[in-house]
Amino acid sequence: MILQFAVGVALRFLVAAAAYLLFVLVKPVRHCPKCNGWGQRAKRRRRRQCARCKGTGKTFRPAARLVHKGAAAAYKQARARVRARMEAEK
Ligand SMILES: [Zn+2]
Repeated sequence: MILQFAVGVALRFLVAAAAYLLFVLVKPVRHCPKCNGWGQRAKRRRRRQCARCKGTGKTFRPAARLVHKGAAAAYKQARARVRARMEAEK
């Protein structure tokens, strides 16, 4: 009974994590929460470049860098495997 509940929670957590990873893969960038996408913050009349997004108004979502690093590594590995197979067939 308790085990079933735990498995259910774990499963739901896994599904949510997978959904989030897919979402981050498709949309890794979001409005900078500090400047609301303006790229600068008013500070005593003088507008200063937002330090968080460096004036772009956009920041990466948490885990976006990690996810894309993983995707790039997987792509590289797949390409290397294909190339190795082509070499072998020559
Ligand atoms: Zn910003």
